[in-house]
Amino acid sequence: MKYNFNAGPSVLPQEVIKQTAEAVMDFQGEGLSILEISHRAKYFQPVMDEAEALMKELLDVPEGYRVIFLGGGASLQFCMVPFNLMENKSAYLNTGVWAKKALKEAKAFGEAVEVASSADANYTFIPTDYEIPQDAQYFHITTNNTIYGTELSDKKLADIYKKRGNVPLVADMSSDILSRPIDVSQYGLIYGGAQKNLAPAGVTFVIVREDMLGKVSRHIPTMLDYRTHVENGSMFNTPPVLPVYTGMLTLRWLKANGGVKGAEARNIAKANLLYDCIDHSKIFVGTAKEEDRSRMNICFVLKPEYQDLQDDFFKFASERGMVGIKGHRSVGGFRASCYNALTLEAVQALVDCIKEYEARH
Ligand SMILES: *Cc1c(COP(=O)(O)O)cnc(C)c1O
Repeated sequence: MKYNFNAGPSVLPQEVIKQTAEAVMDFQGEGLSILEISHRAKYFQPVMDEAEALMKELLDVPEGYRVIFLGGGASLQFCMVPFNLMENKSAYLNTGVWAKKALKEAKAFGEAVEVASSADANYTFIPTDYEIPQDAQYFHITTNNTIYGTELSDKKLADIYKKRGNVPLVADMSSDILSRPIDVSQYGLIYGGAQKNLAPAGVTFVIVREDMLGKVSRHIPTMLDYRTHVENGSMFNTPPVLPVYTGMLTLRWLKANGGVKGAEARNIAKANLLYDCIDHSKIFVGTAKEEDRSRMNICFVLKPEYQDLQDDFFKFASERGMVGIKGHRSVGGFRASCYNALTLEAVQALVDCIKEYEARH
């Protein structure tokens, strides 16, 4: 038995993997693999339509927004966002390596203000003491910092909704999309790589309010212009057919399992179980400030006096089926990614593993 705590690409529901495998062999009884059908075929358009409709339904996306699926990963969005939305000024909250990379791209398009940063504290918390320049074309946040295990809580998000005034919010939600309800009406644009909570690698989701587009004076290359993909229903060029299909299956699975509210309840239960274990541990300690702890990526390290057990615990846990728990090199220690498809049983297995190990030391 393997327990998949990979940070991304990451765990998907078992039934979704099975259905994907079936479609690879024979797509909907047509005698062809999904790998070899035309994206223009009558078979695939309903898949794209359903994926878009389910994203809207599950996230309660209001009128006036469009959902599109693109290639290029969240990293391409780091430049596509300013290319399309920033005339001369934007603002960014620097809460981790991904946020910093997004900010770097924006600097090529004008004045990109870093309103606050927790870099000096190795991004262990999310700053609150800052102003958002009211003449910025947008304010960019990263709702979950995958590497550092911090996440904007509902309370901190509510503060940002107040503080932003009339400045539209743009959010990188790569690693916590669909993990909890979100007030989409607060955002001008939401994007993310789908390989954390939604699909295999290869597809990026974008939720954009239509009136955000067409406001900058610069020329935008066709493929980098959101309007191209909005107008063509994500079918301007060949979309990533298989990842979109699997993503659609994951959305169906989520809908059948209580939607984002159901996912949130399960995610809270999983995170509480693991944080409680770490907080009562003799040898481990969490790295993120308590109020900013992520439910998706749970980071913990050995206490200083137990540092030499690093490799030994990793081996111990691996032998018990734990996969992907090595921490990112910029934090060290361990990281258990507990995305939507990870079961409570997997977290319980990790907790049992930690307790068994502790008992020996
Ligand atoms: C994984 C991740 C990215 C990078 O995604 P790619 O699709 O690999 O470009 C960006 N932002 C966050 C928050 C992530 O977790």
